[in-house]
Amino acid sequence: MTVLNNPKWDRIYDVIVIGFGGAGATAARFAADNGAKVLLTDVAPLYHEGGNTRYAGQGVSSNHNPEKALAYYQSLYDGYDMDKGVLEALTNAQYQFPDYFKKFLDSTPISSLEIMKNDPSMPRLVPEYPGKPGYEAMDALLIHNGSFDSALWKKLRQKVLERADKIDVWLNSPATHLIQRPNDQTIYGAEINRKGKHVLIKAKKGVVLTLGGFENNKHMIETFLGAPKLKPLGSLYNKGDGVKMVSEIGAKLWHMSDYEALGFSGFSVDLPDKSSGHLIMKWPSVSRGSIIITADDGGRFLREDEENKHGHLKDHDTYTIPTPQLHPHLVFDQTKFDNFKNEDIPEPEFFNVMIKADSIEELAKKIDADPRTLKQTILDFNKFAENGRDIQFNRNPETMRSFDNGPYYAVPLANTILNTQGGAEKNSRAQIINWDNQVIPHLYEAGEFGGLTGRLYNGATNLAECLIFGKIAGENVVKERALVSDNDVNTSASVVNDNLGNNDILNNNTYQNIRVGSNQLLGESNIGMGGTLYALVTFTNNKIAKVEFPYNHETEGIGSRAIEKMPDRIVNANSYNVDVVSGATVTSNAIKDAVKNALDKRNK
Ligand SMILES: Cc1cc2nc3c(=O)[nH]c(=O)nc-3n(C[C@H](O)[C@H](O)[C@H](O)COP(=O)(O)OP(=O)(O)OC[C@H]3O[C@@H](n4cnc5c(N)ncnc54)[C@H](O)[C@@H]3O)c2cc1C
Repeated sequence: MTVLNNPKWDRIYDVIVIGFGGAGATAARFAADNGAKVLLTDVAPLYHEGGNTRYAGQGVSSNHNPEKALAYYQSLYDGYDMDKGVLEALTNAQYQFPDYFKKFLDSTPISSLEIMKNDPSMPRLVPEYPGKPGYEAMDALLIHNGSFDSALWKKLRQKVLERADKIDVWLNSPATHLIQRPNDQTIYGAEINRKGKHVLIKAKKGVVLTLGGFENNKHMIETFLGAPKLKPLGSLYNKGDGVKMVSEIGAKLWHMSDYEALGFSGFSVDLPDKSSGHLIMKWPSVSRGSIIITADDGGRFLREDEENKHGHLKDHDTYTIPTPQLHPHLVFDQTKFDNFKNEDIPEPEFFNVMIKADSIEELAKKIDADPRTLKQTILDFNKFAENGRDIQFNRNPETMRSFDNGPYYAVPLANTILNTQGGAEKNSRAQIINWDNQVIPHLYEAGEFGGLTGRLYNGATNLAECLIFGKIAGENVVKERALVSDNDVNTSASVVNDNLGNNDILNNNTYQNIRVGSNQLLGESNIGMGGTLYALVTFTNNKIAKVEFPYNHETEGIGSRAIEKMPDRIVNANSYNVDVVSGATVTSNAIKDAVKNALDKRNK
């Protein structure tokens, strides 16, 4: 279904953008502003669009000197080849970001360097490789004074919805194949699974691929990343469809083995019934005292107290992600357990998933490690702690204490993944090229699909790529010569009576189905993570008796904790003004905002 001659099109647009995350929102917006009628399609259901962009820290890498920034980025390739033109496109545009933010995002951006100066507890992710040439020119910007709150994503999404006359938005609608003209490789459409039907949509000017990476494709993770299992920290909808699509049409691939991780030492606590990981940025206590991180065999495999660079740890003269394990564990003794009991633990399930044993050998059996290896590892660790020198990994001796006589404990960990970088290779105009380095006509890309990071990742570069290459792709695709044929006369983008629909976000009316009783009020808030949050507040004797959330789309495992706990707090206080649930601040505040909105209606 890839190479088709004169197909019967179900609809015709100027541009199709595949994937509604940060890159897709940007490409669609700039294509529309340059006169195109755009279809923006996403596989995810309503309020789950947004991909990794929605979950991101929202930091956007920028610089104060493009020449120095270019030298810095070039040094991150560690000898790998990289197209200088692509890096120049990045660094020149990064330098212009303050204007970009003002003009296109209605924001005076905030410098992360400034925030870090005032808050020493912030992880040192900007610039990620101090000491590399030109590093001092790097910064990262936030759209406002807040992170991990979807703020940039919401702004990008709003810009798309404001252009509803020019951009149609389809959700639940995965693109499955690109459609290529037989004679000259030109891409002139895509096959999309829409409302249970495979429809063929023509793109007169071209297609932009912004459909993210393969964080949720086990086969690709095994094949390209060499990992048995990685827990995604972001979207569950990025399944490597872009890699499949461009493989069919002969695009050149790059950066397939590069990915980023996060969390303490690149891990999260492994919660077996959760498909995604819970991001804990910093947890110093897990690398202090009689505690180690073990590989599958029970041996240590990294320096536990090293601050990771998006999962990368020092590896001789470079940085790499340590070989991912199938069942790594935190292993510690009774003294450390007692310390944990007196701490504020950032993972609520920590004690529930803990494994206990009276001896090290018994613990090894319980965690499927080799008893002799684990025993020897702890003997060695104790010796290093006593001698004040870790000759295996050089951990700071001040962080090491010998294991006591037990009992012993283990907590399962999961290697995490933020995002992959692999995909098709692009040039500085965001055009995709083939294995002969020729442009594949009318095919563009932006964002983490075919990301430009090839070895070492400088924090916040992925979102910078979304904004920069999304704009480049959106503007350039519109400049293509329109492909028009006799067949096209019968269909047009303005045809709306084909049951395919035009805007699944604006035409969504689920909230109208919420039944509001005479003793109830419905409040809403748009400051959460998952679109509009509705709070249905029930009153008895003029007091708040119940708070419910019909249709909430807050993040499972994080926001859901606030959804669970906040109603009792609000009912008990008879007020929206209660403490937030720790680790779920964004959703807690959205709940407070929605309940306040309901109460305001009562007061009117
Ligand atoms: C927890 C976390 C924190 C991060 N923090 C930062 C940060 O602060 N700064 C930074 O620069 N980067 C950060 N990153 C990385 C960054 O978020 C991503 O690389 C970036 O958002 C990717 O944007 P994108 O538009 O390319 O892809 P995405 O935002 O992932 O969007 C891709 C979209 O494509 C859709 N899709 C997939 N397949 C199909 C298909 N077949 N058809 C149609 N649609 C499809 C998906 O549903 C998704 O909506 C973070 C990542 C995570 C997970």
